[in-house]
Amino acid sequence: MAMIGTQRAVFLDKDGTLIEDVPYNVDPARIRLMPGAAEALRALHRASYLLIVISNQSGVARGYFPETALVAVEARLRALLAAIGVPLAGFYYCPHHPDGVVPEYAVSCICRKPSHGLIIRAGREHDIDRAASWFVGDILDDVEAGNRAGCRTLLIDNGGETLWEVGPDRTPDAIARDFAEAARIITQGTAEPVYQPGLPVSDTQTRGALHAPPD
Ligand SMILES: [Mg+2]
Ligand SMILES: [Zn+2]
Repeated sequence: MAMIGTQRAVFLDKDGTLIEDVPYNVDPARIRLMPGAAEALRALHRASYLLIVISNQSGVARGYFPETALVAVEARLRALLAAIGVPLAGFYYCPHHPDGVVPEYAVSCICRKPSHGLIIRAGREHDIDRAASWFVGDILDDVEAGNRAGCRTLLIDNGGETLWEVGPDRTPDAIARDFAEAARIITQGTAEPVYQPGLPVSDTQTRGALHAPPD
């Protein structure tokens, strides 16, 4: 389980981060990139970050759709990114939920965020230096998963998080108001650490990055 790979990545939550959040949607026609995502993805790709989706898909365990429906979801994501000249390096999902109704998926697992199993697996499969990588998501479970995997973490504070259960593992390195700002923070860093621990945070003065980008 070596931390040191030769690649760096931005791990991305899917719903409410990369694409508009339509709960439990698997219809490719209803999958749309978030506003500003195209430019953000191009900037991250230009900065040589692999782009890897890490998604909870408990709709499988809940019986809302079969796991095979996610094949079309992944294909749609790959097509949307290809259309803007950006490769999707990986698509990882957790189909489980402990309260699910489909027996084979109704389990406690190590891949459902806030656990970090999928990040470890993706990192291994893509030779990624997790400490040089970021996890970007719109809720604190994303932040916790990224922190537990040893990544830097960025919360997009766009209304997705509603519970604000804070804790040491659930504090992001940076907060942005949207994906575009997230990409700027990751690729450019900021001159000063401006984030003060202690969420919730929605004041613009507290947004920003703790770290300059690795190089
Ligand atoms: Mg989300
Ligand atoms: Zn799982």
